[in-house]
Amino acid sequence: MHDHPANSWESRAARYSLYGFTDLPSVAERGTVVLTHGEGPYVFDTNGKRYLDSNSGLWNMVAGFDHPNLAEAAKAQYDRFPGYHAFFGRMSDQTVELSETLINVSPFPRGKVFYTNSGSEANDTMVKMLWFLNRAEGRTQARKILTRKNGYHGVTIVSASMTGKPYNEVFGLPLDGFHHLTCPHYWREGQEGESEAAFTQRLGAELEAVIQAEGADTIAGFFAEPVMGAGGVIPPPEGYFQTIQPILKRHGIPLISDEVICGFGRTGETWGATTYGFTPDALISSKNLTAGYFPMGAVLLGPELSDRMQVAIDGIGEFPHGFTASGHPVGCAVALKAIDLILKGGLMDRVRAGAPRMQAGLAEIATHPNIGELRGIGYMWALEAVRDRASRQPFEADLSISERIANTCTDHGLICRPLGQSVVLCPPFILSDAEMDEMFDKLDAALKQVFAGLA
Ligand SMILES: *Cc1c(COP(=O)(O)O)cnc(C)c1O
Repeated sequence: MHDHPANSWESRAARYSLYGFTDLPSVAERGTVVLTHGEGPYVFDTNGKRYLDSNSGLWNMVAGFDHPNLAEAAKAQYDRFPGYHAFFGRMSDQTVELSETLINVSPFPRGKVFYTNSGSEANDTMVKMLWFLNRAEGRTQARKILTRKNGYHGVTIVSASMTGKPYNEVFGLPLDGFHHLTCPHYWREGQEGESEAAFTQRLGAELEAVIQAEGADTIAGFFAEPVMGAGGVIPPPEGYFQTIQPILKRHGIPLISDEVICGFGRTGETWGATTYGFTPDALISSKNLTAGYFPMGAVLLGPELSDRMQVAIDGIGEFPHGFTASGHPVGCAVALKAIDLILKGGLMDRVRAGAPRMQAGLAEIATHPNIGELRGIGYMWALEAVRDRASRQPFEADLSISERIANTCTDHGLICRPLGQSVVLCPPFILSDAEMDEMFDKLDAALKQVFAGLA
């Protein structure tokens, strides 16, 4: 147990707050890290200790923690018009501006946008749209949703059902009708002697078989992250989207790209779909959309789904869905500024320029015999720890290897995220070369310390 006094920030946090997605043994031993403010890519705790946050908060604080333009955009909009909804035929001017901007920067020649407060709600909204339009078209049985094991799509009941993680069993999820296909991770899932291309073909064959078994007319959509984020930073195997998209098209199943992490620059392009050379039927955006300065999510429908939604809405008279804060004017003003900074203000250019340096620095660290795989793209990377590199044998689960590494990094003043047997590095786009070197040095020192203790 940690020995923080009863009136400390750490003890007060524990007394009154429930923790989500938190390794409780680590908190019990170390106490909560209570943060007060940030500067660039750094955050500071109540004891004045500074941490380089190599996870951009939760992937989203890509402009750092004190970007003046984002705070100014929020302040100006709060002064002008601090809140409004998007119901009953009304919406703020900022909402109009943002929708137009989003479609202009989307891969779609035209389309429609719908707003939520989070990525989870955006995925739920997309599923409701698919169910709504299928019913309006008389296809009431077309409700099943396909995703992949290890895919992360959120925590609301539908998006948790889409998420392919075993931890949702504690809620009795997934709901019926949510199917999780093989995780497209060649290093872990590829078979003995199977080439990466053959692995991709096998995943394509599995998709075809599932569609045949379930019936194409019972499936409403296939959702995929271009690069799996919370599944452990898993880029698709060679030719993956080029293999699965034609299968989905042939069966009339929409492909929805969950771009909550990849969208707006994380892979070095505006969309992960662009990086991997495919055009989905719809995009889900959140996280970087406001650079983390406002909670917001969005569904972007391409031309075909927009048209089908419009026909369905015209037939029924309305789309009975929306959140009180959908299209919040402050959120929209912040998003407009964030998109401008990322796409025109040079933040995405920094990812492109810095990605080779990031890869090279991590590749050097990954030469350690207890690192089994380095994987990623742009500014999203993971190092996976192994007991034995040749056999890819993981560390024993009770060693909580990634928590040990992340906790040791925290001691060194570096925040990185434990994920399964991996640690994730996804720094803010503003990171300087010197800050990137600091990240490498601290990570390397922490890894060596942890592995030496387990040798
Ligand atoms: C974070 C995330 C979500 C969920 O977003 P919330 O805002 O946490 O609800 C959905 N999809 C992906 C790919 C994510 O990374």
